[in-house]
Amino acid sequence: MQYPYRSQMDETSPGGSGVMVLLVDDQAMIGEAVRRALVGEPGIDFHFCADPLQAIATARQIKPTVILLDLVMPGVDGLSLLAEFRGMPALRDVPIIVLSTKEEPMVKSAAFAAGANDYLVKLPDAIELVARIRYHSRSYVTLLQRDEAYRALRESQQQLLETNLVLQRLMNSDGLTGLSNRRHFDEYLDMEWRRALREQSELSLMMIDVDHFKAFNDNFGHVAGDDALRRVAEAIRACCSRATDMAARYGGEEFSMVLPGTAAGGARLLAEKVRRTVEALGIHHDMPAPGSVLSVSIGVATLTPKIGQASLVLVDMADQGLYQAKNNGRNQVAM
Ligand code: GH3
Ligand code: MG
Ligand code: MG
Ligand code: MG
Repeated sequence: MQYPYRSQMDETSPGGSGVMVLLVDDQAMIGEAVRRALVGEPGIDFHFCADPLQAIATARQIKPTVILLDLVMPGVDGLSLLAEFRGMPALRDVPIIVLSTKEEPMVKSAAFAAGANDYLVKLPDAIELVARIRYHSRSYVTLLQRDEAYRALRESQQQLLETNLVLQRLMNSDGLTGLSNRRHFDEYLDMEWRRALREQSELSLMMIDVDHFKAFNDNFGHVAGDDALRRVAEAIRACCSRATDMAARYGGEEFSMVLPGTAAGGARLLAEKVRRTVEALGIHHDMPAPGSVLSVSIGVATLTPKIGQASLVLVDMADQGLYQAKNNGRNQVAM
């Protein structure tokens, strides 16, 4: 049987996926009538399920874009089946058009309350049936596409975020020791200097230099030298007690520590702890005397920044302390 008029809507749903109609009805005759109404409709596939007990399993399998659902079926109440569809994540949003012989408002109202998207009295003419199927199917596919687009967007944003974090870590860290590199040190010191200026708080800085390290390289080789630098760096890192303490490799065999909100007394104690921790590594070194261990000299400086002053002043002060520690015999702290 041919219908004289055809729906003028798009032949295919957005995204190229076709319309998949699942009819759940106990009467084979209804199945046949709907099949005839849909046959030849471009982009519409039809599946008939005569056993309501199989409806959910069938829906899971064929993934309908629209479900046509009978209300009165032997053994199963159509409304309960509807509610069951609505309770399943995979089928929750599939449009359901109730197809029923019942015309009472109470029944229609109960169907909508149970989650029906539409209600057609059996049997609607083919034009209305096809138009409603296409309308609901298109809304559903659009919804799915939007969900998928959001998911993909969230995923790519997450990836971008993670890539940025990795890049930032690479950009900020020293390849040999994993401590902050000079670039990050400069940035951090500048930031903390400005904060200390604003808050008029004390900012301390430690400059740490490995003693007689040229001789260490000369005696044990650069591979052993690199290894010693890594161990010294780890010892320095272990001494960072506050989240705002920052240890960096300043360059070569020189390290530094930025200590925001730390007064001179605390900075000196921490420097002494660093010195002792490195000494306790017990890295064999025959300088300055046979049987000595590798040590560091440390210069410490503390300032409350003044307007017009640059953070370099603090670096210079710590350097002067370091120079003094070296002159006084190394393996010591000076301010
Ligand atoms: P001082 O006690 O006065 O600091 O003497 P020093 O020998 O440590 O000082 P100097 O500045 O003369 O030498 C520093 C040495 O550190 C020279 C260089 O070979 C070594 N050095 C710098 N960077 C690295 C590195 O990345 N790996 C190794 N293995 N050695 C390094
Ligand atoms: Mg029935
Ligand atoms: Mg040096
Ligand atoms: Mg040195």
